[in-house]
Amino acid sequence: MSTLADLKPTKRQRVIDLVSDAGFDVSDWGNYKRGPKWAAANPKYCYNWAFESDEQVLLSLWHAHMTEAGGQIEHTFNIREFSLDCKRKGLGTLGKRAYDMDLVLQRALHKQLPMRVMICEGDIRDDDDDQADASRVKFRLLDAEPWHIQHYDKLTGACHLVRGAAPSPYVDQFSLPTTQPANKIQITTSVRERKAEVREKALRKAQGKCQYCDKPGFTTHKGQIYLETHHVIPLSEDGPDHEHNVVALCADDHRRAHHGAEREAMQKQLLALLADLYKSPSAT
Ligand SMILES: [Zn+2]
Ligand SMILES: [Zn+2]
Repeated sequence: MSTLADLKPTKRQRVIDLVSDAGFDVSDWGNYKRGPKWAAANPKYCYNWAFESDEQVLLSLWHAHMTEAGGQIEHTFNIREFSLDCKRKGLGTLGKRAYDMDLVLQRALHKQLPMRVMICEGDIRDDDDDQADASRVKFRLLDAEPWHIQHYDKLTGACHLVRGAAPSPYVDQFSLPTTQPANKIQITTSVRERKAEVREKALRKAQGKCQYCDKPGFTTHKGQIYLETHHVIPLSEDGPDHEHNVVALCADDHRRAHHGAEREAMQKQLLALLADLYKSPSAT
């Protein structure tokens, strides 16, 4: 695991190259009056602090502003407040860049977009000195790890970013800690393997709603949405451990699917639902 010190950039790298490395289309950078040769210096892009596509966002952050706590690398800031402060001081250009970054954060949160980070090292402008020069980046690198928004206050703009992929918003009965009964009885059963990846895909497909009654799952104390994953053709009957055979149900409907009087009709309905969800586009 890398520490904050490991992430300190030591190479001069161009913004355009890192934006491209992150997977963004940079072809429009070349549409610049000085010609495509100057694409890297296109002011429409090269000074931006945040980039955005339909699939992801990329932020430029100072290494010096990152912190490390309990092995976790974080960045706490309020770019909206900074933007307003710049405007008050007549620093319109900086204010606009900060404002745009805040909008990118809001959209990243709203659309649940994955986040990449360009880590910057250099001379950071002293915000308390109104005559100070603009910040100057000396070195930068593209962090290989994704980041995610742990907290964003829509009202104030206060933001807390954490290095690493976002934890799943969903959980099922297998991801909760198991509680041991007080009087333990030894039970030997053959537990068939359920792949975490399959359950995760099924939960994401359901998007937090029971696929039988459409009711949203409840929210756990950790803020995740709880639904139970259910193999429509049971593993014991050689049903495949594949998302094409797994639905997410509310706890009530899961019990019903196993023990209810209507369990056979329910199974037919769920199989039809899965067939419809995963039908190949060419079949339509
Ligand atoms: Zn239900
Ligand atoms: Zn089940």
